[in-house]
Amino acid sequence: MRIILVNPRGFCAGVHMAIDVVDQLLDLCPDEPIYVYHEIVHNKHVVDRFRGRGVVFVEEIEEVPAGNILVFSAHGVSPQVRKIAQERNLTAVDATCPLVTKVHMEAIRYAKQGYQILLVGHADHQEVVGTRGEAPDAIQVVESPEDVRHVSVRDPEMLVYLTQTTLSTDDAAVIIEAIQHRFPQVKAPPTEDICYATTNRQGAVRAIAPECDLTLVVGSRNSSNSKRLTEISENVGCRARLIDDVSEIDPTWFEGVERVLVTAGASAPEDLVAELVRKLVNDYDAEIEVRDITTEDTEFGIPATLKRMMRERGVDPTGRRIHIQRPDITADLYGGVPVTIGVTG
Ligand code: SF4
Repeated sequence: MRIILVNPRGFCAGVHMAIDVVDQLLDLCPDEPIYVYHEIVHNKHVVDRFRGRGVVFVEEIEEVPAGNILVFSAHGVSPQVRKIAQERNLTAVDATCPLVTKVHMEAIRYAKQGYQILLVGHADHQEVVGTRGEAPDAIQVVESPEDVRHVSVRDPEMLVYLTQTTLSTDDAAVIIEAIQHRFPQVKAPPTEDICYATTNRQGAVRAIAPECDLTLVVGSRNSSNSKRLTEISENVGCRARLIDDVSEIDPTWFEGVERVLVTAGASAPEDLVAELVRKLVNDYDAEIEVRDITTEDTEFGIPATLKRMMRERGVDPTGRRIHIQRPDITADLYGGVPVTIGVTG
């Protein structure tokens, strides 16, 4: 069996930043409780590891005692949530991914200009809930081409669509086509809302999955971008399974399989990928091939509130940027098996 490890995979710049924020706070405030509104990123292992270090995850702001530190997750929050945090005198550290904030800003700007907004996304996803909260009277969420038929539009000349950052590029294209078909004058966002990390991870799967018999995506079930990777693989004819970790693999999946594509959602830690690869190497005598499809160099700085807290505690925040590292491909990490670097796709 051959394992094709595709790049890019795993942590994106937004996830790196959000995780680093909580890490930094744990170091900076060892005697204070750290609360996080919703999961910091949609990954069970990341959340469990932070829980093990004392971080408290809450679903309602009211659960956070007044005056405490509260982190907003990478998916962003609505203005209403920010207001409640302020009223409760919480120290709010905003770990929202800047690419999600960009969509919020677009929603605010278009709503102020009098546009109605069709927000393409999953209505119950935290990111969409947060964006919608920026302009609830102007935004209608569309999840499917069917939804497009039912939206009510005052003036088709004053209509714009925006999208959730982690959609399937395949699905989004179909919904956007339905919007453009019904409202030919609809305005597109100034730049693509589906983020670079989503696009690149999906592009890598789309490029390599047709050569493979099975795709394994490491990621949690509530991770939108991880689920989309399985769908992209299935769309190009390669069956796919989403697993939180190696314990979920089923030996029957590998019957007759010669090539397995291994990737990970933007919130899945690389050590879980390495553990999966080691298991496949041990159980199936698999060889490893790495395929680089796109290189990434996006990085985000830490939030202003955290910088201020650092200064107040005598820590110099200068130069604290989140550097993205390409997932390690040393043979040691993957069970001592030599790693072949494949042709860049
Ligand atoms: S998947 Fe994209 S939008 Fe979401 S945190 Fe990562 S970079 Fe930001």
